[in-house]
Amino acid sequence: MIPPGSWLGLLGGGQLGRMFAMAAQSLGYRVMVLDPGTDSPAGSVADAHIQADYLDEAGLGRLAEGCLAITTEFENVPAASLAALASRRPVRPGADSVAVAQDRIREKVFLSGIGIAVAPYAVIRSAGDIKATDPALFPGILKRSWLGYDGKGQARVSTPDKALRIFREWAEEPCVLEQALAIGRELSIIVCRGGDGATVTYPVVENSHIGGILDITIAPARITPELHRRAVDWSLRIADELGYCGVLCVEFFVLEEGTLLVNEIAPRPHNSGHYTLDACVTSQFEQQARILADLPLGNCSLHCPAVMVNLLGDLWAAGEPRWEKVLRHSRAKLHLYGKREARPGRKMGHFTVLGEDSQTALELAQSIQQELVADSLAGRANQS
Ligand code: ATP
Ligand code: MG
Repeated sequence: MIPPGSWLGLLGGGQLGRMFAMAAQSLGYRVMVLDPGTDSPAGSVADAHIQADYLDEAGLGRLAEGCLAITTEFENVPAASLAALASRRPVRPGADSVAVAQDRIREKVFLSGIGIAVAPYAVIRSAGDIKATDPALFPGILKRSWLGYDGKGQARVSTPDKALRIFREWAEEPCVLEQALAIGRELSIIVCRGGDGATVTYPVVENSHIGGILDITIAPARITPELHRRAVDWSLRIADELGYCGVLCVEFFVLEEGTLLVNEIAPRPHNSGHYTLDACVTSQFEQQARILADLPLGNCSLHCPAVMVNLLGDLWAAGEPRWEKVLRHSRAKLHLYGKREARPGRKMGHFTVLGEDSQTALELAQSIQQELVADSLAGRANQS
């Protein structure tokens, strides 16, 4: 076990890193963040900030020098950097797990290989691959294999010609072409796996997206116990097969006719797990710190149903939103990430509403959200 007072290292400076740093600090650790930005959400709360590129050898060297163990907050950290750090310090999750999750082609091959159902897909490495694809994959979604998040690097393609055009626009980078599915529900689960292979899982939750970006999470998901069990089983199988060490999110689709599929995995805490900060005994970020420091895993139980709503930069169109609209509710909790500039689609914060039941929590959460949206629209109208 790494004793409190020691330094823990983090690659990445975003909000996930900020909430990790705060959780680790609550347990008495010091946190060193490596991130290229000057004023990042995690860098500004960390005990130390190394401003360097993720591939910068000197920066990585200082991180390894200064910290007893290192974690990451986003999957696009070059696997080579994780591997280099791992030669000097424990790195959790390991470079191999991150390498699978950061490459959609490897991810799909891995999941299919361990008997987990995924959306019908084809690997696209050349124009010829598009011409050779099964016509049943259209209409489809072309997804770049690398560097996708929040629906970026994805395009709906109705025909092979359209797919070809986009593939060329993207400089013929490797892609996955997925069939566009009739999705009934989107679910996710967070699984935590320690260095000794012990695992705990949070409840399965239900997610809705707008424009490819998570909008609302409902915990727990309103699904049958059978579906809940299958999602838990699959997430444990994925974590075990990866030999995973850390916090892992598995995203699922439930098709309209009921079939469960895995969409993707994220080798870190996840936006759909932010509700755990307010609604669970142990948050996903505390679990990340516990696993990194080799402490026992925490309890994942829900205190009560909860609904999380993302706050995107669009809400700042007319200036700082009126937070009393959230804060005046006794069972609503506000989290802002300290980002100075609000841009449309940028995740600026979230709020969570706790409820006696998920319906009540959802209704209140949506009414608060509508008030904030109405305010920003009205403000924008006044300005123009
Ligand atoms: P994030 O990192 O935010 O989870 P991402 O950019 O990695 O997102 P995906 O999770 O692959 O992207 O897709 C984003 C959203 O687009 C999904 O949550 C879903 O709503 C929709 N989507 C993705 N793939 C399909 C599909 N095959 N059929 C229908 N809808 C899809
Ligand atoms: Mg996703």
